Amino acid sequence: MSQLRARVVIIGGGPGGYEAALVAAQLDAKVTVIEQDGLGGACVLSDCVPSKTLIATSSMMADLEGAHGLGIRFDAGNADGLARSTHASADAPRIYSRIRGLAHAQSADVASRLAAEGVEVIIGRGRLLRPGVVAVGNTELAADTVLIATGARPRVLDDAIPDGERLLTSRQIYDIDELPSDLIVVGSGVTGAEFASAFQALGSQVTLVSSREHVLPNEDTDAAMVVEDVFRRRGMRVLGRSRATFARRTSDGVQVGLADGRVVHGSHCLLTVGMVALTSELGLESAKVELDQRGFVTVDRVSRTSTPGVYAAGDCTGVWMLASVAAMQGRIAMWHALGEAVHPLRRRNVAATIFTEPEIATVGVSQQDLDRGAVSGRVVKLPLATNARAKMDGFSDGFVKLFARRGSDTVLGGVIVAPRASELILGVSLAVEQQLTVDQVAQTFAVYPSLSGSVTEAARKLMLPME
Ligand SMILES: Cc1cc2nc3c(=O)[nH]c(=O)nc-3n(C[C@H](O)[C@H](O)[C@H](O)COP(=O)(O)OP(=O)(O)OC[C@H]3O[C@@H](n4cnc5c(N)ncnc54)[C@H](O)[C@@H]3O)c2cc1C
Repeated sequence: MSQLRARVVIIGGGPGGYEAALVAAQLDAKVTVIEQDGLGGACVLSDCVPSKTLIATSSMMADLEGAHGLGIRFDAGNADGLARSTHASADAPRIYSRIRGLAHAQSADVASRLAAEGVEVIIGRGRLLRPGVVAVGNTELAADTVLIATGARPRVLDDAIPDGERLLTSRQIYDIDELPSDLIVVGSGVTGAEFASAFQALGSQVTLVSSREHVLPNEDTDAAMVVEDVFRRRGMRVLGRSRATFARRTSDGVQVGLADGRVVHGSHCLLTVGMVALTSELGLESAKVELDQRGFVTVDRVSRTSTPGVYAAGDCTGVWMLASVAAMQGRIAMWHALGEAVHPLRRRNVAATIFTEPEIATVGVSQQDLDRGAVSGRVVKLPLATNARAKMDGFSDGFVKLFARRGSDTVLGGVIVAPRASELILGVSLAVEQQLTVDQVAQTFAVYPSLSGSVTEAARKLMLPME
């Protein structure tokens, strides 16, 4: 009987790999995961989980900074923690050690889940010998289905080589055991903006070097402008249209050169200039697995590569570098390979969040799609400054934006800029996924007072005829 079980071999134990393994095991396949570093992958050990743990602390710091406005006074001599009379300060070694501890605990949880489902885990470096055969060390494993889920690593610039002490990638920032006093963040995409926001809230002086006109150039412009405005108001130096040409150590810090000849000085430099696929030396070329020009594995919407029996999921495909997308691509691969009914990946329905302060959460079509006529839609944008709950919570930066299709009035997407927008976006995601109309969303109860009340209010506004 056991010979009839499909054999699945997965290279990479991040969300792309381990979520696929759980699905395949549930479908009674014989599953092996090969992982070279630690289960949970870079997602759990160095990227998503550590950065969001850091941000949990920085958000608390930001809340404490705003506590005065809500009528809270910190008296000198208070018991543990709130050391000075008026504001708290970051304890960097404790923050970083909490991050490391939490990441390892999460990795152990993934290991237990895989063990409980009977998934075999081999620690080592896997590579495809040929379609249907994977090698790890001297062992060869036969497989009916192979999944490549090897992830990506931070890109480095020729003239800005990280040293792990002062010139850092996002994976090295937790190893320094001090709060950077004067941090230069190079790159103002999602990762750069999140770290700039977090370290500023923790008390670092932050300079954000952006090669583009404004931060978060690929996001909703209104949302990016709110975040940039908050950054500047809180004292961040945002250098727009400033391409970094080099980053070097000095005797007591770092210097970053800009294309226009200026040189910026700081204590540390964090390089967030994109990610590179981990697809070399995996035997992919000899197995005729097609890569694109940037080295990402080419996949279709059910995660198939150009080689039959070989699937790929996650960051190594470059489809959308999110843990949730990696996991879904991995699950879809297994459902497809093992003969289950499956929906191809719907990129449009992916909900994403940028964990700045405030957060930006998005789903569905974008303002750019509407502006360039890719979809025929209507838009309503409601500032949160008039929302009763926002007033009570003491903030005014943010908005809810909702897009609806002209004619059918179905909800096509939305943008929420608010504290915890990551939690608020679910209502809009459901509407997009289920193709609800603005009337259906408008007639849904929201709690009063709540920020989600602005989502139903935006839907009510979209019920009104507009030109
Ligand atoms: C700073 C930062 C913050 C992020 N925050 C978020 C977030 O908040 N939300 C979100 O959704 N996404 C976030 N992401 C993105 C998210 O981390 C990735 O999309 C996710 O890790 C992709 O999962 P994966 O399985 O493809 O790859 P990974 O998590 O990178 O796992 C791949 C694994 O494969 C292993 N591997 C590679 N080659 C081999 C080999 N030959 N043999 C054996 N093992 C191998 C690696 O060791 C690694 O463990 C963030 C990324 C960064 C950089």
